[in-house]
Order: sequence, then C-alpha cells, then structure tokens
Amino acid sequence: MRHDGAQTPLVDPQPQAHASMLSTLHIVMYHYVRPLRQSRYPAIKGLEKEAFLGQLDYIQRHYQVIGMEQLAAALVGAEPLPPRSALLTFDDGYLDHYLHVFPHLLARGLTAAFFPPVCAVERRQLLDVNKIHFILASVADQDRLISALNQAIEAASAHYGLASVAHYEATWKKPFGYDTAQVIYFKRMLQHVLPQALRQQITHDLFSQFVTQDETAFAHELYMDSAQLRVMIQGGMHVGGHGDAHHWLNHLDAEAARQDIQKTRSFLDDLGASTPIASFCYPYGGYNATTQQLLQEYGFSVAVTTEPLGVDLGRDTALSLPRLDTNVLPRQGDADYLQLAP
Ligand SMILES: [Zn+2]
Repeated sequence: MRHDGAQTPLVDPQPQAHASMLSTLHIVMYHYVRPLRQSRYPAIKGLEKEAFLGQLDYIQRHYQVIGMEQLAAALVGAEPLPPRSALLTFDDGYLDHYLHVFPHLLARGLTAAFFPPVCAVERRQLLDVNKIHFILASVADQDRLISALNQAIEAASAHYGLASVAHYEATWKKPFGYDTAQVIYFKRMLQHVLPQALRQQITHDLFSQFVTQDETAFAHELYMDSAQLRVMIQGGMHVGGHGDAHHWLNHLDAEAARQDIQKTRSFLDDLGASTPIASFCYPYGGYNATTQQLLQEYGFSVAVTTEPLGVDLGRDTALSLPRLDTNVLPRQGDADYLQLAP
C-alpha cells in the first residue's frame, strides 16, 4: 500500500546519496513461529520452528542482523548500515515469540523488533484477525466454512441491507498470495467487507462453533503479557506499536485513529519500550496521510508496512518501510544468497 500524500520529510532530502551508502536492507516479517506439527493447530499458517532456526542460520550467514535503533540512526543519516543488512520483525504479540523466538535470538546474540497490539497484551482480548486464523485452521473443509459464513450473511441480510451472497462471491472470491479463493473470501468478508458489528458477531459465532467457547483462556495462551515483554526489552529486544485493537488505521476516522495511536504510545511508554526511539507497524499494512501525521505527532520515527519489497531509501520514507514475508527467504543455513527484488 503506497501513500502519496504530502508529509514532512523524515529522511535526508537527498535520499539517493544514502541509498548508495546503505545498499541492501531487508526487513523480514514473521507472525506465528511454533513447533507446528506438534501443536493443537497444525494447519495454522505459520512458520515451523525448525524452519525458523534454519532461516536464522541463513540470515546470519548472508546478512548482518541490525536492530531498530541502528535502522533509525541510518534513516537520519547518522550512521550507514552494513552492506547487506536484515531487520527481523515479529507481529501481533504472540506467546510464540517469547517461547520459540526470543531464547534463540538471545543465544545467538541477535536482536529483533516485536509489535504487539495493546488490547491483546493489556486486556487479554482475542483479536478478530486471530479468531479468523484459528477458525480456518480448525475446519479442513473450506466449502463447509463458506456455507456457514454465507448462511450467516443471508440471515442478517435484511437487517443490514446487505448485497447478495452471489455479488460478494463474484467480487471477493479470488485467490491471492498464498491463499485459496475460499480463504480470501472468508478473510475479506470478515476483515472489512461486512458492516463491523455484523462481522464481529459472525466471527465470534464461528469461533465458538468451530474452535472454542472460551475466548479469554485462548487469548491467555496466544499472547504475551506485559511482564514477558519487559523481560524481552531487558534482553535487548525492541518493542514497537501495532495499534490498540488491530484496526485498519486508514479505515478509521481521524479521532478514532488518534485515540488508537495515543493508547499505543502510552502502552509503550508504560512498558519502557519507547527509548530511545518509538516505532510502529501498521495493522494489515493499512495507513494514510492522517495515520502518518498522527505517528509523527506522537513521536514515532520509524514505521513498517506489509508491502513485500526490500527497502530502497531512494523510494521509501521512514514511515513507510516495506517488509518481506519470511516465506520468500530460504530456510536452510547452507542455501546460497537469494537475490530479492529491491
Ligand atoms: Zn498484525
């Protein structure tokens, strides 16, 4: 997602000079990292722990792993980055990161950036985005799931004045990235197409039907808590913002976006995470000019998107740094260096 609005320049006004000095920077994006095969939800779309460790071997062999502070210094031209550098980022505050990532980073002397949503950590609320993942991982027959979803849409159709199921399917049931047409349809309808109150209700109903009725217990198993995040900060990890309730910030009105970013900033300050720099990761990669103005106002100096590219400081600003999904990188330490799109 590109943002073309005017904004205060955050990087050197002559970025080309930096781009040549910086050469290659890849920011890598991770979500679930766990021993998937032995887990209760082996179908969850995540990275097998062994593959993660293999990928760390690969990254350490071919890149220099940098931290968020080092990136921030490079962005203002204070210090050039190594010729080939990588920044590792972990979204959504999963307990996976504390259990299966952090100990290995510590053992290898590496650092990384973690982006937990406030409500998951502070209020132990299960995010709708995660309910959707675990519903999908719990129902092998995707057509059965789509028919349960479509039944719920039809039942609510008159009340909400919805379009027909046939119309929704024609518009949204298309494969994208690593997902099938059914999965994309399911995600889009429940992520942003249906009215908010309805999609929350349907997500809740399907989660209790197919996964569990105890969302609170599930949230405790899924996310880190503040104490664990503080341990990671003490261990040299960077913790940045990922919004309060994991909303698409570009879909919120300005006041709701302000409240979300303000809460995020207070949360990071309370954790002791905001020194020396505060960073942000846009939920779903969604942002606009208002989001970026608010981030600047609340003192965030670096923000990452989900656009699947390497960083090019001739093109990218400090508040719109693209990231590569872990899936595009090799998972074996002996793999040759893979040239990726700049
Ligand atoms: Zn997220």
